[in-house]
Amino acid sequence: HADIAMYKAKESGRNRYSFFTADMQQFHTRNLLLENALRRAIERDQLSLVYQPQYSMVNNQLIGFEALLRWYHDDFGQVSPAEFIPLAERNGLIVAIGEWVIVTALQQLAEWHRAGYRQLNMAINLSSIQFRQENLLQFVTNAIEFSGVPAAKVELEITESAMAEQPERAIALIAELKAKGLNIAIDDFGTGYSSLSYLKRFALTKLKIDQSFVRDLLTDSQDKAIVNAIINMASNLGLKTIAEGVETAAQRDLLKHLGCDEMQGYYYSKPLLADQASQFIQQAL
Ligand code: C2E
Ligand code: MG
Ligand code: MG
Ligand code: MG
Repeated sequence: HADIAMYKAKESGRNRYSFFTADMQQFHTRNLLLENALRRAIERDQLSLVYQPQYSMVNNQLIGFEALLRWYHDDFGQVSPAEFIPLAERNGLIVAIGEWVIVTALQQLAEWHRAGYRQLNMAINLSSIQFRQENLLQFVTNAIEFSGVPAAKVELEITESAMAEQPERAIALIAELKAKGLNIAIDDFGTGYSSLSYLKRFALTKLKIDQSFVRDLLTDSQDKAIVNAIINMASNLGLKTIAEGVETAAQRDLLKHLGCDEMQGYYYSKPLLADQASQFIQQAL
């Protein structure tokens, strides 16, 4: 851990630089150290998944979970995915990490199915870098077959930017995934730059309304108008909607009133460790 000791020494010696330079330098150094540490994260068993419950508004039932990645490093502590995923995307590590996520999340879903909760779904986030991989379809279908869960119980979350990169290839890939029975959701919908015409060309199943529109839904009439428009458009296109970042009963009630199909957020539960999620299932179902 000599490199980390050096980092800490630099940190304490920051007054030698101008603040701006010191900050830039520190940011750069931290990234290099994180990158090296991340290379060993899988083999050192430092990655884990947490699972956040998703609810249907039809019957107020738990219908599944979204798998969210966590990284705990002895020196850095808990590193946020918002920090290490962009890093892993820049250096390509996201491919191996993403494969680990797919296998681990499916294994967990299979365990819950074997315990009798066969109605549960698993939503898995895909980076646009993974989405570019030639073998993605093969990897996902192999992993699903190996896990033994029905493909229809698996949902892949992709972002608008993943679709916009190479639209023709993305259209074909999503069609193949759909043909295998998988579900495709657009994550953070409304925050990207993709054209609405994509919605009819891609074989999608769900739009995930970004939490930035949900946050001030009750007080911001523009956010309410946007959410209302997304839900109506989705419904007319035969797509389901799920709202993320639902934190209060008032948000849930309004979203339900607007016709949103599914919800996820702290109002229902924070993301849970596997054991906690298993207990949550036993109490909810
Ligand atoms: P996301 O996929 O949009 O996930 C939703 C984020 O919102 C999660 O943050 C979740 O913990 C948080 N969240 C859930 N409910 C609430 C709520 O009620 N209020 C608030 N304020 N936040 C809520 P997290 O876990 O830090 O993940 C951040 C992002 O990192 C994710 O955004 C996703 O883009 C990415 N990510 C996480 N796991 C993976 C992964 O396995 N693969 C890839 N490629 N990306 C991942
Ligand atoms: Mg997501
Ligand atoms: Mg999201
Ligand atoms: Mg988000």
